[in-house]
Amino acid sequence: MMARAADPRLCPTCGDIMTFEILDDERFLVAWTCLNCGLIRTTEPA
Ligand SMILES: [Zn+2]
Repeated sequence: MMARAADPRLCPTCGDIMTFEILDDERFLVAWTCLNCGLIRTTEPA
């Protein structure tokens, strides 16, 4: 069974489900927040 790519919805630190907030709709900039450990990261297309 192949390992799947890391799910962006899951916290890379604790594995909890992260909530997301759209910061910029036009640039698809999204901020992901982990409510468990407080990690925040943003994603945008390369
Ligand atoms: Zn976390």
